[in-house]
Amino acid sequence: MHRTHYAAEVSAQEIGKTVAVAGWVDRRRDHGGLIFIDLRDRSGVIQLRVDPSAGPVFSAADRLRPESVIAVEGVVRARPPGMENPELITGAIEIEPMRLAVLSEAKTPPFLPHEEAERVDELVRLRYRYLDLRRPKMLAHFALRNRVVFAFRRYLHEHGFLEVETPALARSTPEGARDFLVPSRLQPGHFYALPQSPQLFKQLLMVAGFDRYYQVAKVFRDEDLRADRQPEFTQVDIEMSFVDQEDVLREMEALVHAVFRESLGVDLEPFPRLTWDEAQRRYGSDKPDLRAGPPLLDLTAAAHRDHWPVLGAAEHVAAVVLPGVNPSRRQWDGLLERARALGAPGLIWLWRGEDLRTNARALGAGFVEALAAAAGIARGDGLLVVGGPRAETCAVAGQLRLEAADAFGLRQSGWKFLWVTDFPLFEWSDEEGRWVSAHHPFTMPHPEDLDRLETDPARVRSLAYDVVLNGVELASGSMRIFQPELQARVFRVLGLSPEAVTAQFGFLLEAFQYGAPPHGGIAFGLDRLVMLMAGAKSLREVIAFPKTARGTDPLTEAPSRVDPRQLRELSLTVVEPS
Ligand code: ASP
Repeated sequence: MHRTHYAAEVSAQEIGKTVAVAGWVDRRRDHGGLIFIDLRDRSGVIQLRVDPSAGPVFSAADRLRPESVIAVEGVVRARPPGMENPELITGAIEIEPMRLAVLSEAKTPPFLPHEEAERVDELVRLRYRYLDLRRPKMLAHFALRNRVVFAFRRYLHEHGFLEVETPALARSTPEGARDFLVPSRLQPGHFYALPQSPQLFKQLLMVAGFDRYYQVAKVFRDEDLRADRQPEFTQVDIEMSFVDQEDVLREMEALVHAVFRESLGVDLEPFPRLTWDEAQRRYGSDKPDLRAGPPLLDLTAAAHRDHWPVLGAAEHVAAVVLPGVNPSRRQWDGLLERARALGAPGLIWLWRGEDLRTNARALGAGFVEALAAAAGIARGDGLLVVGGPRAETCAVAGQLRLEAADAFGLRQSGWKFLWVTDFPLFEWSDEEGRWVSAHHPFTMPHPEDLDRLETDPARVRSLAYDVVLNGVELASGSMRIFQPELQARVFRVLGLSPEAVTAQFGFLLEAFQYGAPPHGGIAFGLDRLVMLMAGAKSLREVIAFPKTARGTDPLTEAPSRVDPRQLRELSLTVVEPS
């Protein structure tokens, strides 16, 4: 038997008893003839104390190398008074080994699990990921991830959702990113696409009458990678039949509440809701961070009514309130520079102390007072005001709000969720010179906007919604079109010819002709959710074997060249870049 206990399970109750433990040599310390070894396994560490009188056990302990794997049988003792370590669960006891076997000797590792991750080059961490994953902190991330996935599955299972797997070798779906392609050997010149999402399949499952579906699905998008992107990632993908948007939002919010309760012990507040339009106006973003101080003020009406200098002519006037701050002149200048860098023509700042301080003195004392009054700022509050075209002005003000919140410590902690609803159905693509879907082409237009679908696509809202947490988009979904005629109208606005439509998703449209229920769904980004829950800074901290920003895996060296024979079988020739 390798062990009777996990390291952290051995307790004072075992004092005087013989136990067997097994694991890695976390640290070894020599102390005046005594050797102390911290043995680490998945549960934690326990100290072994080896006396020179222990003979062969002592000489084995003396030769132990860090990270070697050992099995130990010994007697549990209380540590001598004064030698306890309150930071360890097992800090009051130690094991006096009678037998110590080295099961696997370790070379000197490039870094040790108890070294701080920040001090190790990340490429080295990824190259030796199995060593990196030995860090208790990394293990904790995966234990959390496991709890989160389990909580999702429990809730969904208990609420009648069926987990169904959909193909990884699929056709491309219209999520808009580049596909990863897989050449077909049996159909030379033909390719599968790895799914960007199970979107079309889950809709087919609704046509099939499965009613409630979910899947913890691996999905793939060949995009240029940023810190919070990975080419393959995991979605908790969900679809429901015979529901309206309200049903979906209610059920999904209950799901998130259950996941937080079960995996973190946190009871969430009900999620506030903002339409996309309100989110833009009040936060300058479709993923507002509600922790970063009060929402933006819309001073447009006052500016127009009172013919404010400069701002009176702007389409939109937005202001950021900075409650209880006292920025230095340099900080105000820094904010002005930031506003300009973000594309604003200028920035008016003011601060109410004994009197009003501002960079807009030249525009008149009356105006400055009117501005402060319109914003309703109190003593000790600062104000940033920008004006210009609506979308740009909101975006700049929204960004300044976030940056100022960090600069002046206004960002609160906690879990600030919200729903953003009523996203625009279309976005204009300069690149393609046509309207493209903001979400995907199967998203249901807002029923109130159907009559302007063709005439004013820019102003057509959709039944699409996002879950946002602390300024991060956590989930996106929508109600789907299930009427072939409406779908055809949307495709026409998207400039897709009937031939292109048939070629790409004819099978879905055909399915809709055989009886399709009203349906809608959502997909949660699991990696991002776990990253936020773990307080980690990168997705790579919560994915066991992630890719670098260049899309490579330093451990396995994927992607790699392949044998010419494999290429021949696939009827492929590689054209080397010149
Ligand atoms: N398939 C969508 C996505 O990946 C989510 C959904 O509409 O359910 O964003």
